[in-house]
Amino acid sequence: MWSDPVTEAVQGGGKMLLVSGPSGTGKSTICKRLGEDPRVVFSVSATTREPRAGEVNGRDYQFVSKVGFSEMIQAGEFIEHADVFGNMYGTLRAPMRDAIAKGLVFLVEIDVQGALQLKTLDTPGIYVFIKPPSLEVLKARLSGRGTESSEVLERRLQKAEDEMREAGKYDHVIVNNVLEDAVEELRLISGLAQEPTS
Ligand code: ADP
Ligand code: 5GP
Repeated sequence: MWSDPVTEAVQGGGKMLLVSGPSGTGKSTICKRLGEDPRVVFSVSATTREPRAGEVNGRDYQFVSKVGFSEMIQAGEFIEHADVFGNMYGTLRAPMRDAIAKGLVFLVEIDVQGALQLKTLDTPGIYVFIKPPSLEVLKARLSGRGTESSEVLERRLQKAEDEMREAGKYDHVIVNNVLEDAVEELRLISGLAQEPTS
């Protein structure tokens, strides 16, 4: 019998909750809200990108060099990794195993290629795609966030159009129109809307 520790832990109550979708759809905003629940543990990815103002190493990301990232790949530390807009990002295997073994919800917020890698590997979990109400709204949100240059913003919007076509491969699609509604929908989908029984 297949005895992958992740699968065993899922049967024990813990699970991976994967949230993905184009850049600027509101994934971080929604996940931050969900993370207020003590039953949720955030996946802190490793990345080669430079920290943004206010970002803290170990909390927002594990910021590593390109060489360090390659070494982590070689050591098998990632469950998936991808090049996103020229920087490397990877989801760490060990924290996921630990959180699920404790019966917690391991919240993974990653890009569409990474999510589809995990789906292809049959990694057990709930796969959720966050959609913007429209591409116009996405553009407005991305420029409103003010973290990208206009060239980067244009690239992200072009990629968003392709990524939207992948939504059907996920278990659930949430349209992030009213933030509160989107958060509530994710709570329901993940089982967090129910209070713990003990
Ligand atoms: P992502 O993590 O998907 O790249 P963010 O969470 O950074 O996206 O959201 C992009 C921008 O849109 C942010 O400025 C955020 O405050 C805003 N935003 C997110 N959700 C909503 C919403 N439902 N309504 C209006 N603005 C939103
Ligand atoms: P940002 O640089 O804006 O924080 O993130 C850029 C993109 O990388 C976002 O879509 C985010 O979800 C994605 N991302 C963050 N961590 C990971 C990861 O570990 N793996 C993959 N594949 N994508 C990630």
